[in-house]
Amino acid sequence: MNLDFLSGIGDAIGSFFATPIVQLGLKAIGIYIVIVWLAAAFWAFRDMQLRTANPILPYLAAAFVIGFTPVLFLFAVLVYKIIRPQERLGEAYERGLAEEALLAEIDAIEHCATCGRKVHEEWILCPTCRMRLKRVCPNCNRLVGFEWSLCAWCGRDFERPVGAVGPVRTPAPRSEGVPAPAPVPMPTAQVRARRSTRSVAGATAPSPTPRP
Ligand SMILES: [Zn+2]
Ligand SMILES: [Zn+2]
Repeated sequence: MNLDFLSGIGDAIGSFFATPIVQLGLKAIGIYIVIVWLAAAFWAFRDMQLRTANPILPYLAAAFVIGFTPVLFLFAVLVYKIIRPQERLGEAYERGLAEEALLAEIDAIEHCATCGRKVHEEWILCPTCRMRLKRVCPNCNRLVGFEWSLCAWCGRDFERPVGAVGPVRTPAPRSEGVPAPAPVPMPTAQVRARRSTRSVAGATAPSPTPRP
């Protein structure tokens, strides 16, 4: 009697699943799962493309999801989310840009070459270590870099004594038809010496004259 009852239930379930409408529903669910499975593989492919420049890894990620079959692919998605590179290429690029901008900002702040402390751009002496930072041009009274060979503001040449060679070299007006004076070459030994001292001092002041 008990067995009859159970077999009756079994028959009922069997006939229920045999009906065309239920068969159709099961097929639809199956197709839907397969579509989600393939879509998950495609998502893994695209996601990996955004995270690596390697051309093979996106295919491996897709194959990994496919390999877990339509039944278990959700576990593959879970595992993929854990092991994938955490940073996208675009994010890494942006982070690099931000770091560079920060470094440039730090570089722009003037520091004493000797003690490394922050100094104001208009100070002529480091208040901490008494290092000479700038000097005042005797001609125009503006601040010039301590290692500049001439004043970038007024053109006063600090290498030559005043009046020894004549007036300060200034851009000659071209309208008179007089050719502009040729640039006075600096002795190479002098240039070398200054270059070496500058590299030791690590000064950041821009050079007013381009040197060969
Ligand atoms: Zn200092
Ligand atoms: Zn000057």
